[in-house]
Amino acid sequence: MSKGTPSAGKMKKQTHGVCRRCGRKSFNRSKGKCSACGFGKTKKLKNENWKNKTITGDRKD
Ligand SMILES: [Zn+2]
Repeated sequence: MSKGTPSAGKMKKQTHGVCRRCGRKSFNRSKGKCSACGFGKTKKLKNENWKNKTITGDRKD
């Protein structure tokens, strides 16, 4: 095992977790809000039509 630049990738902090509302891995843990649906920021689902990805309130699992 070498220490240095190659091992820097293992230190990577997980910034985004699974969102409780939209089920996408877009929930920013440090900010406490979801970038996809706006959970933690808005009460309503964030709907941005200019974004091509479809967002549903249902969880995927
Ligand atoms: Zn979300």
